[in-house]
Amino acid sequence: MTIKSVLFDLDGTLLDRDRSIEKFIDIQYDRLNYYLSHIPKVDYATRFIKLDSNGHAWKDEVYRNLVIEFKIEGITWQDLLHDYETQFQVHCVPFPLLTEMLDTLKQQGYLLGIISNGRGEFQNRAISGLGIRDYFDAILISEIEGVRKPASAIFQRGIDRLGSSARHSVFVGDNPTADIIGAKQAGMRTIWKRNPHWLEAKQADAVINELDEIPALLERFSGC
Ligand SMILES: [Mg+2]
Repeated sequence: MTIKSVLFDLDGTLLDRDRSIEKFIDIQYDRLNYYLSHIPKVDYATRFIKLDSNGHAWKDEVYRNLVIEFKIEGITWQDLLHDYETQFQVHCVPFPLLTEMLDTLKQQGYLLGIISNGRGEFQNRAISGLGIRDYFDAILISEIEGVRKPASAIFQRGIDRLGSSARHSVFVGDNPTADIIGAKQAGMRTIWKRNPHWLEAKQADAVINELDEIPALLERFSGC
């Protein structure tokens, strides 16, 4: 079955979220050192990452807790949250070979899309921060769409916007449930980008460690 379109998850698939968060929090600590210097930097970073829980907690809760636990004064949790919302994009770290992989897929004529669970403005800023917006023919973010992965509706909507069909589409993601089971139920082929936050994604049609493995896999899918 010829593959015509490839849709991607964003966090943990194209964007190296763990490294981006580490980098952001390190620079936030330095930038706001006037208010945070009574906290050892490693404690601030470790606690942030723990409270963030791989993105499952929204940052208003994280900063509310940090302000209380570390007795931060002179700056509010809202100020810290605003700093996160406006500065995170500056520190977005892509996985290796991201733009090379996208260049290859574009040259090969694939239609490309992103389907991401998250807040619209924030995820859009992250996509711009990575400098990859122009590669994509459709970008769907759950807050804007009013539907989240793993619901089939958001996958089908992405496929429709590309003018493609599920049987000619592949989804690449790191979350075994939201991405792999979700896309599979929508009738797509799936590639799991391995992520240490999960052990395995049993339902995936293929597993990759690096993004540059994708073009050869698409050819393999097209051959069967
Ligand atoms: Mg993800």
